[in-house]
Amino acid sequence: MNELLEPVVSIKGIGVETATTLHEMGIDTISDLLEHLPYRYEDYRLRDLETVEHEERVTIEGTIHSAPLLSYYGKKKSRLTFKVLTGRYLINVIFFNQPYLKSKLEIGTTVSITGKWDRHRQTITGSVCHIGTHSLEKEFEPVYSVRGNISVKNMRRLIGNAFTQYGDFIEENLPPQLLTRYKLMPRNEAIKGMHFPASERDVKQARRRIVYEEFLLFQLKMQALRKVQREQSMGMGQIFSENKVNDFIQTLPFPLTNAQKRVVEEILSDMKSPYRMNRLLQGDVGSGKTVVATIGLFATVTAGFQGALMVPTEILAEQHAESLHAMLETKGLKTALLTSSVKGKKRRELLQALAVGEIDVLIGTHALIQDEVNFHNLGLVITDEQHRFGVEQRRVLREKGQHPDVLFMTATPIPRTLAITVFGEMDVSIIDELPAGRKAIETYWAKHQMLDRILVFMEKELHQGRQSYVICPLIEESEKLDSLQNVLDVHAMLTNYYAGRFNVGLMHGRLNADEKEEVMKQFSRNEAQILVSTTVVEVGVNVPNATMMIIYDAERFGLSQLHQLRGRVGRGSHQSYCILLADPKTEVGKERMKIMTETNDGFVLSEKDLELRGPGDFFGKKQSGLPEFKVADMVHDYRTLEVAREDAAKLIASKSFWEMPEYQPLRSYLGHTGVLEGEKLD
Ligand code: ADP
Ligand code: MG
Repeated sequence: MNELLEPVVSIKGIGVETATTLHEMGIDTISDLLEHLPYRYEDYRLRDLETVEHEERVTIEGTIHSAPLLSYYGKKKSRLTFKVLTGRYLINVIFFNQPYLKSKLEIGTTVSITGKWDRHRQTITGSVCHIGTHSLEKEFEPVYSVRGNISVKNMRRLIGNAFTQYGDFIEENLPPQLLTRYKLMPRNEAIKGMHFPASERDVKQARRRIVYEEFLLFQLKMQALRKVQREQSMGMGQIFSENKVNDFIQTLPFPLTNAQKRVVEEILSDMKSPYRMNRLLQGDVGSGKTVVATIGLFATVTAGFQGALMVPTEILAEQHAESLHAMLETKGLKTALLTSSVKGKKRRELLQALAVGEIDVLIGTHALIQDEVNFHNLGLVITDEQHRFGVEQRRVLREKGQHPDVLFMTATPIPRTLAITVFGEMDVSIIDELPAGRKAIETYWAKHQMLDRILVFMEKELHQGRQSYVICPLIEESEKLDSLQNVLDVHAMLTNYYAGRFNVGLMHGRLNADEKEEVMKQFSRNEAQILVSTTVVEVGVNVPNATMMIIYDAERFGLSQLHQLRGRVGRGSHQSYCILLADPKTEVGKERMKIMTETNDGFVLSEKDLELRGPGDFFGKKQSGLPEFKVADMVHDYRTLEVAREDAAKLIASKSFWEMPEYQPLRSYLGHTGVLEGEKLD
């Protein structure tokens, strides 16, 4: 019996009430409590404000210079403000929800204040206030997430008790050679160091060990899953006609780029192998993923199977259906389009033809994974823009047919950091080269007040026969911010401005599929020269004559999304432009606009996006599917992540990992996660 798995009530000072609150925080066992690590530390060493960055935390000592003002707002919320003279600085201090401090603070009182420094407002938002001269009993104190009537102080005490009683039971889980190789401290010392550090160095060393452990465990899980998936999911080893495939590639209207050749090779060799393909294809907008997909689909048909291509929107499905039809029909392949607008008799006939194998390649939206859709023998499934599909949809897709090979395509360049975590169980192919002859899009950042000049510039482009997109942020029902430019207003304004000279189309999410299609067709036939739209045009739409894009309120978009949008222009031989209209208030906001003007490299932008906004925002919070680490940070600890990934791969592939006793803790961890039984991670 493992003592650490006993319930928290065994710890001194923890009764039923406290245990209930802890339970609400997901802390049930002693080990849960011991592993409830601080999320930051209060640093009590005094510093000169001169050297403190904006928003950094700091401790200062000084004397109170103005009588504290206490004000209440809301039910129990209060704000206490006063001025403190520290060194040459007279600063403001704010304490939220600590009204009791007021009676202790008078003009002239010496205090030491710990909190967050706002350089612009010359204000510290305080968290700790010591009355009297600063004494450095402790340099550091851990700060924990807490709940209900458990305060941070309580939590420190509870964890202290837990340690006294049970600290010795903490067992090592990493093998000695890894500890030696990276000079990592033992597990019990690291956990202790996180909770009771004597110095900053202690925290650093402890953290280093925990971060490595977290990443290694995670990567082991991913790699084990990948191994199990490979072994259990034998594919069919597609025997396609290499001659026909090469022939097909020869007849394309352009030679493949080297990057395209390479990924085609990777995909075909997966399809040939007896293992099931589970591959992610990344390629920036315009890098030519569609052709690569088409080659794969063609190959599977020559091997006697059917292929499917799934995309997130109807417009995109139609565009793809058209271009695939053009490439494949002349080779004698039958393609078909299935969306939710294919109804009634037509739908029944289509499904029938699909089930008996008369249709070779089916293109569609998520309508394609519904139960009623049955393939005769599905060999290859490709999804475009895969991150827009939920995890569940991905799973259903994988289970269609007899273990088809699966290729996920995405134009969102996923930062390596994320790719190797989120998609750790997949193989990754990257198209890192654009077809020759493309001109780089020129991007400018302008304030909204410069719109007049931009419209004049746009008019010149239009007079030369080019077209233009004008993008407005989507207006959510729930979020009626007046500051947002309404797509309707912008449409009305431009219609008025260019009246009698150019036509302005309007596209937004409230239009039905037919209306959207009509608008899109008008624009692609150049019947409208300007298209005002929300972000529905984001994905895949191809109008090479469009050379200009204006994006309203650009600061509201993520960098990756801006880059995706920008990818709608620059698709033809003419020079293209992207104008970002934005009045960002923050430094980060300004930096984001600036970097957009500096690079066209989607990978650079995605890394930057991740750094500036964090991974949660990257995929959208809801379905991010990102692993959560207690201590490790995928962005900042990215090097460790890579190291852990390599180590995990070596371990999983080695015989000794599965046999030697020093790996027992890691093996039993994998046992607990269920991956060894082939349980799916998603
Ligand atoms: P994406 O990767 O964004 O899906 P597409 O497949 O839509 O890119 O390709 C963008 C455009 O580039 C298309 O018009 C396509 O025909 C063209 N294209 C693709 N590959 C090449 C190539 N090797 N040489 C020239 N043009 C290409
Ligand atoms: Mg595409």
